[in-house]
Amino acid sequence: MKKAPVSGLSLDDSVVPVAPDAEPGALELKPAGESAATGLTIERVSKRFGDVAALRGVDLLVRGGEFFTLLGPSGCGKTTLLRIIAGLELPDSGRILLSGKDITSLPANMRPINTVFQNYALFPHLDVYENVAFGLRSRRFPVTAIKRRVEDALAMLQLDSLAGRYPHQLSGGQQQRVALARALVNEPEILLLDEPLSSLDAKLRAILQVELRRLQRRLSATFILVTHDQDEAMAVSDRIAVMQPGIMVQVGTPQEIYERPCNRYVAEFLGAANLILATSLGDVVETQFGILELNEKPSWRQRTLAIRPERVRLGLTPPAANGVRGRLREVVYRGAFVEAFFDPGQLRVRAADLYPLQEGDEVWLELPREALVVLDE
Ligand code: ATP
Repeated sequence: MKKAPVSGLSLDDSVVPVAPDAEPGALELKPAGESAATGLTIERVSKRFGDVAALRGVDLLVRGGEFFTLLGPSGCGKTTLLRIIAGLELPDSGRILLSGKDITSLPANMRPINTVFQNYALFPHLDVYENVAFGLRSRRFPVTAIKRRVEDALAMLQLDSLAGRYPHQLSGGQQQRVALARALVNEPEILLLDEPLSSLDAKLRAILQVELRRLQRRLSATFILVTHDQDEAMAVSDRIAVMQPGIMVQVGTPQEIYERPCNRYVAEFLGAANLILATSLGDVVETQFGILELNEKPSWRQRTLAIRPERVRLGLTPPAANGVRGRLREVVYRGAFVEAFFDPGQLRVRAADLYPLQEGDEVWLELPREALVVLDE
C-alpha cells in the first residue's frame, strides 16, 4: 500500500474552469436519472506512444448521470483514455462527443470536466476554504457566489469544521475530500477520478467509496473513475468497462460482469472463478468432474466454463444433476467466509462455514447449471 502523498503545489485540478457560460451560484442539484443524450461518446479512439498502442479503436458510451468505472490492470490504457476525455491528451484518431457535440480538440480549460488525481496535491499555503475557493477566485466569480458555492461544497463533504485548517493539518482522507470539494465547486458536468483513493488505507477507502457513491447520486453528475481495484469498481459503479491493454473487453453493470463474465480474463480479473474445460456431447458436456448439464444446449465443441466459488453447493446427499463427489483438502479461514479446496481439480468453494466437515472428509458438491457460465474463447 502506498503512503498518502505529501501535499504539493499543482495547478492541474484546481484551475481547470468549467463551461464558460456556467451560472455563478450555489452548487446545482440536478434531477436524478441517467441519460444517453447528455452522455459522453468515445468513438474509435486510438492513441500510440512510440511502439506502444495505448488505445486501439476504443468505442464507449458513458450515460449522463451515471457512475462509470474504467477497470483494468496497470498499463492497459485507463489513464490515457481519462486524459483524452479531460483534454490533456489528443487522440491520434477518433472523436470525443459530449451531449452530441464534438469536443475532441476543445482545450481542457474549455471543457465542463474536472479531474481529481491520485496525487491530489493541495496548495500547502492555503487553508481548506481557500483551496476550494481558488478555482472560482481565479475565474473572478462574484464574492457572494464564491462564498455560497464553497460553503455548499464544504458542507457536502463534511469539511465545514475544517475550513480554517491547512493541508498539513489534515489526514489523507480529509485531504482527499478537499480535493473532491475543489473539483465539485466548479459544478463540472463530468468528474474524472484517477485512482483517487489508492493512497488511503483499506478502511478509509471503504468509507470514502460509500461517500463518493452518495455524492454522485446527490449531484446526479457523471463520474468516471479509473481503478485497478475490482472491489472498488463493484462497490461504486452503475456500470464498469473492463479493459485489456488498449481495448474494452466487456461493459456492463457490476452484477452482469461478475455473474456473466464474457471471457477468462474478465472471470479471473473480477474475483475468484473455477475454470472448467468442457467438451460437448450434444445435450450435455463432459468435464473433469464428469458429465454436466448446462442451461443451454452447447452449440460449440469445446469451451471453458466458469463458476464462482460461492455458487458451488455442498450437500450430504447426491444432487439431482451436476453432482461431484469431493474430498476436502484444505480450508482457508477468511473471516467473513471460509474458502475450501476440494479434490478433484482443486475446486474452490466459499461458504459461511463448513462445520462439521474436516479435512479429508467426503461430501457432495453441486455445480448448479444456472451458475455455470460458458466463456468466449
Ligand atoms: P496505471 O494503472 O499503471 O496508471 P493505465 O492503465 O492507466 O496504467 P496508461 O497510463 O494509460 O495505463 O498507459 C498505457 C500504456 O501507454 C502503457 O504501456 C504506458 O507505458 C504507455 N504510456 C502512457 N503514457 C505514455 C507517455 N507519455 N509516453 C510513453 N508511453 C506512455
